[in-house]
Parts: sequence; C-alpha cells; structure tokens
Amino acid sequence: MNRIELSQPTRAEGSKMKIVIVGCVAGGASAAARARRLDASAEIIAFEKGEHPSFANCGLPYYVGGVIEARKKLLVAPIDMLRQRHRLDVRPGHEVTSIDTANKTVRVRDLEQNREFTEHYDKLILSPGATPIRPDIPGINSPRVLSLRDLADADRMHAAATADAKRAVIVGAGFIGVEVAENLVHRGIHVTVLQQDAQILSPWDPEMITPVDDGMRDKGIEVLLNETAIAIQETDAGVSVETRSGRQINADFVVACIGVSPDNRLAVKAGLRCAERGGIQVNAHMQTSDPDVYAVGDAVEVVDFISNSPTQIPLAGPANRQGRIAADHIFGRASRYRGTQGTAVVGVFDTTAAMTGLSEKSLRRLGRPYEKIYLHPMNHAGYYPGAQQMTLKLLFAPDDGRILGAQAVGKGGVEKRIDVIATAIQAGMTVEDLEEAELCYAPQYGHAKDAVNMAGFIASNVLRGDHPIVHVNEIPAPSDHAWIDVRTVKEFEAGHIPHATNIPIEGLPERLQELSRDRPLFVYCRVGQRGYMATRFLNQHGFQARNLSGGYLTYRLFEKAREIPKPLI
Ligand code: FAD
Repeated sequence: MNRIELSQPTRAEGSKMKIVIVGCVAGGASAAARARRLDASAEIIAFEKGEHPSFANCGLPYYVGGVIEARKKLLVAPIDMLRQRHRLDVRPGHEVTSIDTANKTVRVRDLEQNREFTEHYDKLILSPGATPIRPDIPGINSPRVLSLRDLADADRMHAAATADAKRAVIVGAGFIGVEVAENLVHRGIHVTVLQQDAQILSPWDPEMITPVDDGMRDKGIEVLLNETAIAIQETDAGVSVETRSGRQINADFVVACIGVSPDNRLAVKAGLRCAERGGIQVNAHMQTSDPDVYAVGDAVEVVDFISNSPTQIPLAGPANRQGRIAADHIFGRASRYRGTQGTAVVGVFDTTAAMTGLSEKSLRRLGRPYEKIYLHPMNHAGYYPGAQQMTLKLLFAPDDGRILGAQAVGKGGVEKRIDVIATAIQAGMTVEDLEEAELCYAPQYGHAKDAVNMAGFIASNVLRGDHPIVHVNEIPAPSDHAWIDVRTVKEFEAGHIPHATNIPIEGLPERLQELSRDRPLFVYCRVGQRGYMATRFLNQHGFQARNLSGGYLTYRLFEKAREIPKPLI
C-alpha cells in the first residue's frame, strides 16, 4: 500500500477560505460544523444529493419497525439550523458529478432544476459514504428487492412493511440485516434471514454471537446459515427466492443487506489514489493524494489501530471524527486520525453484542500470537434485583499482556464494558492495567470488582503463570488428558463435557488418589471460578491441571456455534 505523505497544515485561520463538501451526513456534516467553529468567515458549501442533509442513517431500521414513529425525528440537524445557526450553505438535491483538481473546481448538478454549474474550492472534502452491494443474481433489480441506506430507501421499506406484508426475506446477516430483521418482526412480518457465512454478524467470533442468533430464532426468525439467494422471481403474490441449497421461499419483499462498498466514483474519475478494495487512500490528516482534497467516512480506507494494516470499517463514530480532523487540518491544526478499532455494538431484541479491536479470527488470519480468556460476570451486583449475566472475551498479547481485542454479549451493561476496554486499547494498556481500572460502582450499576477488573485479574493470572488454562477449541489430539468436572452432582447431571469425571470441588482433597499425575487434567466448572480454585489446589499437589477458561458456559457457546473440535466429541 502506498501511504499518502503527511503535509503541514495550511495556516488559514482568519483568511476567507472556501470549502466545498460532497455529502452532508455523518462525516460531511461534522466537517462543515467544525470548519464553521474554527473560522467564522469561511465560505462553506455542502452539496448533498439526497433530500435531507444530516439525517440519522443509524435510526432508519427503527423507523421501518415503528420504534421511531415520526419520520422527522430522523432529521438530526434540520436544514434551517445548519443554515441559520451554523451559517452553512447546505444544498440538498445537488449532486457533485466530477472534480477538476487542476483548476480546483467541482461540477454540480442541481437535481430539481436539472441544470449543471461549476463551483470553485480552496479545499474540498469528500464524504460520499458507501453504496449497498447488490448481489449479481437474476431478479435483483425487481422493485420488490429493497436495500437500506438513505431516507428514500427507508420510505420504501416503511411502505412495504406497513402494507399488510406477511413475509420477508433478508439476504445478509450483518449489522443492518439483523436490525432490519428485528424491526420487521415488530411489524408482525415473518422473516427469513439468509446468511452466506456459518454465523451471523461476521465481525464477531462465532461462539460469541450465538446468543444473538438464539434470540432471533426465539422470536420466530428463520436464520439459515451457509445459505444465500441465487435468483429472485416476481410472482403474482410477491417474490419467490431460490436459495443455493435449492429451497424456494415466497415473500412479499426481499431486503438485500450484503454489505457496502466505498463510494469512490468521484475520486477514481479525478485520479485520486484508491486502494484495491476501493477505499479512497488518505493520510492521518485525511488528505487524499491531492493535498487540497480531503476524504472521510465510509468512502476511505483506514488503518487498523492494532494491526496497522489497511482496512475498510464503515462506522458512524470514525466518520464523525474524521470529518472533524479534516476541518482541523484545513485550519492549521495538526490533528491526526489514529486508526479504526472497529468498536461496535448491535442490539437485537433484548440481547446486546459489542466488540472492540481484533477478533480471534482476525488474529489468526494475521498470524499474530494471542491468548484469550472468557468470563461470565453479572452486569451488576447479583443481590440487587434484575442482575443479568453476560459473556466477556478478552484477547491479549501473551508476552506483554497488551490488550488486542474484546467482545461481550448479554442483556445489560455489555457496551459499557467494551467501551472501557476500547479506551484501554487506545491508551496502549495491558491486562494488568485493567486490574487497576477504577470504575464507578453502586449495586444497581456494577460490582466493586467490575467485569472489566475481573477480566484483568483472570488475564493477568494467566500471564503470570498462576492460572494455566485450556480452551475448548484448542484441545490437543489425541485425547490423552482427563476432564474433571468440579461442579455439583446436580449440575453435572444436567449436562457435561463427554467423558468428564465429576468430582465436586468440596470433595476434591479426599479423592486425589483417583487422579493421575502423568497426564494433563482439564478442570472445569460452570464459569471458571471453581475450576480456577481446583486447578490451583491440584497443581500445588503435583498434578498438571489446567482450567477451562469460562467453564461449561463457554463450552456450550462453542457447542452451539458448532465449533467443538473432533477429539473432544
Ligand atoms: P453517509 O453518512 O452515508 O453520507 C454520505 C452522503 O453523501 C449521502 O447522504 C449521499 O447522498 C451523499 N453523496 C454521495 N455522493 C454524492 C455526490 N456525488 N454529491 C452529493 N452528495 C453525495 N454506524 C454505526 O456506527 N452504528 C450504527 O448503529 C449504524 N447503523 C446504521 C444503520 C443503517 C441503516 C445504515 C445505512 C448505516 C448505519 N451505520 C451505523 C453506518 C453509518 O451510518 C456510516 O458509517 C456513516 O453514516 C458514514 O458516514 P459518511 O459521511 O461516510 O457517509
């Protein structure tokens, strides 16, 4: 990858600068507002080809589902406010059709008046976003195949969902696919989701996302994994979707949610450097290969904060921050974008999944050494009413304990823990720093030893060699080890790992003679705490014991994700 060289910020404060912005939603609107705050006299023109600037893309699925009832609530910053309070020349219904970087002009089409004109700029900021990918299959251009990117799409989907529709097929179970699925269920529509991958929400590790998958099925959504649409045919009653495995699914409409690709059309035409995967290449000040043209948001290639490799992560937070950085740099401030961590959250019905940093899948793909731990803490003190259990997975470097990523899933308090760890990652912290994190506590909010502290304790114990662990998906073959289940007899009888011997922890000291010191003992309990105590006890008596990280609950997650390796079963 050819990185764009950094250049000195332009010292323009006080001079009458003309900034033209293409796309006035997340990144573009942030850049415009920041530019105005930095320079009261600058001329700032923001062209937006859609009907409204600064609308809430992220709220669109909830408008379709009726959770957000009034469409006008989606208009985050009304045009009058942008024009009057921020004194921005915002022009909806205007599409920028080309850029002439040599003469520093853009060609603009006024979509309502159907006329074109040329606009000069001193600095240009591109924030055109990304476009939904449409699978290249027969029937994809049917008006009954919808996607969801802007207000016009939301209007179409809202109309379809409220027009007595009974069935819908969603192709793709990414963020938007699962959010749309939930919202169509709110409208009483039977939903089938086709997901090409072996799991929904592919950025997460498979075992961590099974509770979301379960929650969707519990609400009657048919989730078909390793499945996709190969053809769509209009019928008298709606559409018929043919799947790869040969199923025919009838529906009133289809929603295509198979991802987005950076909208680089203007950039490519203007000869600005773009990456192989399409993202416009920028430096840390968000300058493209032409230093007077900046690009931000979903359209740009970013650097992964942890791996430092180029990537494409379309999220609202990064787009907003990048818009601000571009405006800063234009007005002489050397703000720099640090890279994208992929901190994300999704809520489907009452289950929340959040993540930050690299997943285990990505670490493996990158060939980067890592260790991981699982825990299942309550979101707040167990004795306070309403406590709910979550699963937290922490990934860290096995040599120095630097945090590489975290994922959590549960009902309450999930995103709070991931936000704390996201900040720790950005500060370059280690798992030992998490032991020391001082977080707010009262029984209805958390624990005196918060889930984040607990993750730090467990990971630090592993790092220091005090807590040898084993993972379900890394059981060595052949199985020359023994499984010891230290839960109660009742817990054991309700379900256990195949071939495990049940020795409740309380009886362990009396039953040591049943155990061999010649082969590894893999110890487990429900969540890992009794297993840790048993492991400490056994190793102090000359055994080679390792605790199953996260215990039987973690085993069950792997089992549901069909990720249990053969030697174990
Ligand atoms: P956008 O916000 O998409 O804005 C680009 C704008 O540029 C568009 O309005 C477009 O009309 C305009 N444009 C394009 N080309 C031209 C042109 N030539 N001339 C004039 N105007 C042009 N992210 C999250 O972090 N959390 C979420 O919960 C979340 N939910 C989402 C739900 C949905 C349904 C969608 C669609 C996205 C969601 N996102 C979410 C992603 C998030 O909205 C984007 O990452 C973010 O909006 C990107 O900002 P942007 O400025 O790059 O592009």
